[in-house]
Amino acid sequence: MQSRPFNGQNNAPAVAAPTNDFFVHPTADVSPEAQIGKGTRIWHRAQVREGAVLGEGCIVGKDAYIDMDVHIGSHVKIQNSALIYHGATLEDGVFIGPQACLTNDLYPRAINPDGSLKGADDWEVGETVIRYGASIGAGAIIVTGVEVGRFAMVGAGAVVTRNVPAHGLVLGVPARLAGYVCACGARIEMDAEHQGHCARCGRTLEIGAENQ
Ligand SMILES: [Zn+2]
Repeated sequence: MQSRPFNGQNNAPAVAAPTNDFFVHPTADVSPEAQIGKGTRIWHRAQVREGAVLGEGCIVGKDAYIDMDVHIGSHVKIQNSALIYHGATLEDGVFIGPQACLTNDLYPRAINPDGSLKGADDWEVGETVIRYGASIGAGAIIVTGVEVGRFAMVGAGAVVTRNVPAHGLVLGVPARLAGYVCACGARIEMDAEHQGHCARCGRTLEIGAENQ
């Protein structure tokens, strides 16, 4: 069985075929109920919870945390100490920088209004989607409920509270659209017809069309 591409062109995330052809460092904690794709490497002290699905050829860095039922495509890089909480979906080719955090609770409280401790049923899990090829910078925080578009780039330390368009570059707290980036990662110049041109790799992009 081959895994399907997970790139926003279909509805379901890539599901890895059962295989032992992946690497888990002896200090990592990977649930036997997680599915790990071929060639994926999971490094020191990383934790992958039950129900998590990782595609093929991913890298999970030291001390990263992947929560229960998180779906991750193929060729995804998750750097050291990144936190990916329940409710997040990462398509193929996503980059998550060190110490980035994908949150999942829009109304974070330890207790209910009557002072009782909140239990598992006392809150609603938010959903976050990081589209194909997008990058989340070091230390950025993605507040739940947003979608980060294909090949978008979130600057280091940004706090993302709204959707990010495809190829969008967002910076700051709260994150604001600062321009557009090419698939190669370089900033692109826009002309009046919403065509972007990348001086680094020569690609031309129809940014307006991508974002409608
Ligand atoms: Zn380029």
